[in-house]
Amino acid sequence: MKLSEIKFSDLDLPEQLMRGVDDCGFEYLTEVQAKSIPKTLEGKDLAVQAQTGSGKTAAFLITIFKHIMEKPKRQTTNVCPRAIVITPTRELAVQVASDARKLGAHLDMRILLAYGGVDYDKQRKDISKGVDLLVGTPGRLIDYLKQRVYHLKDVEIAVIDEADRMFDMGFIADIRFLMRRMSDFDKRQSILYSATLGQRVMELSYEYMNTPELVEVSPDTVVADNVEQVLYHLGSKEKLAYLMGLLETEEWKKALIFVNTKHMANRLKEVLNHNGYPAAVLSGDIAQDKRQKVLQRFKGDDLKILVATDVASRGLHVEGITHVFNYDLPQDTEDYVHRIGRTARAGASGKAITFACEDYVFTLPEIEDFIGHSIPTEPPDNELFKEPKMPPRKPYKPSNKPGGNRPGQRGRGPGSQRSGSNKGRRTGRPSGKR
Ligand code: AMP
Repeated sequence: MKLSEIKFSDLDLPEQLMRGVDDCGFEYLTEVQAKSIPKTLEGKDLAVQAQTGSGKTAAFLITIFKHIMEKPKRQTTNVCPRAIVITPTRELAVQVASDARKLGAHLDMRILLAYGGVDYDKQRKDISKGVDLLVGTPGRLIDYLKQRVYHLKDVEIAVIDEADRMFDMGFIADIRFLMRRMSDFDKRQSILYSATLGQRVMELSYEYMNTPELVEVSPDTVVADNVEQVLYHLGSKEKLAYLMGLLETEEWKKALIFVNTKHMANRLKEVLNHNGYPAAVLSGDIAQDKRQKVLQRFKGDDLKILVATDVASRGLHVEGITHVFNYDLPQDTEDYVHRIGRTARAGASGKAITFACEDYVFTLPEIEDFIGHSIPTEPPDNELFKEPKMPPRKPYKPSNKPGGNRPGQRGRGPGSQRSGSNKGRRTGRPSGKR
């Protein structure tokens, strides 16, 4: 993370807010903060090129808090948040709210969440009692809005976080739905953050914002410069043995291993567990409450290895990740940046080790184009190939569907089947959902 020469104490922030900034240990503004906060504090609309790890969350939270503290609340009927932050994923929403509660610890502010998967009635009830800052994902926000739990006609600040991701995840109609129900664009401040400010993002911002100013960071800061990157060309069948060797020799404390499919994530987790490396999986199909539990364990010292698909790469904020492994090379160029940005957070240093195999190497030129340099490549060290002990294959759980059984699997003894739903079941799909 690039720090600027501007200090938070230069910004003339209210004292209670400054105490929150101090609690977080922030002294100098990051580059993105230095380029955006002075403008957003003046009330300007901004489209900011920034990714996770740049300090963007604190940038908009400080703007929101200062505004709410110093500007009189608009007259409104029923419940209307003074500020809303829309994020593409639940993880990011939870992270933003958690950062907000830290930064705003000394403020009298109601910060609430609206995101899918959990606590439907609780979130609804909380919001109906009033809210200053509402953070949420599009689906749940729209659900409550349609039920008139709250409205947005008098909202003062709207933040769209990770706008490019909103497009990728198909949320853009939802964003338009929400924006159209807000106060007029000249009666609110709108701020948008996106890893890239491409045409689709800019069109959105011109449509719903008040002639936003653009803030861009220099390309060489797209990848945090304190991440040591290295790439190995390996056959897909060699990757597992090489990972084992690296886990033995690298000085890692907490590792995040990225794969491209949930199928691979589960398989890798099993092999790691079987070889004395306790690991858990974070992928898109894991229930929200279980995801939160896994994340909590990873944030603490209970779990040192997390195998994740790209749902986890954005918005995931865990201190102390020393190593990110791209076991599979990402298929989306921007995911490379997001993945490796999970290490070296807030000025710490970290290492990103990438495997390029015959299945996924094709995106390598695009990724290198995007980050503006080639990833330093090293030849694999023959000593490091450590064949893992392979876990026994999970007994097959017969399906009730007609034709769902494999021949020869019927009628196994009761002890041979795992309890639980479809754990370890082979789907027969080479690549599953993320
Ligand atoms: P973000 O880009 O919002 O995901 O923030 C990345 C990390 O940087 C978070 O852990 C923040 O707490 C941290 N951070 C944000 N601003 C600063 C700053 N000015 N100085 C040091 N760390 C910061």
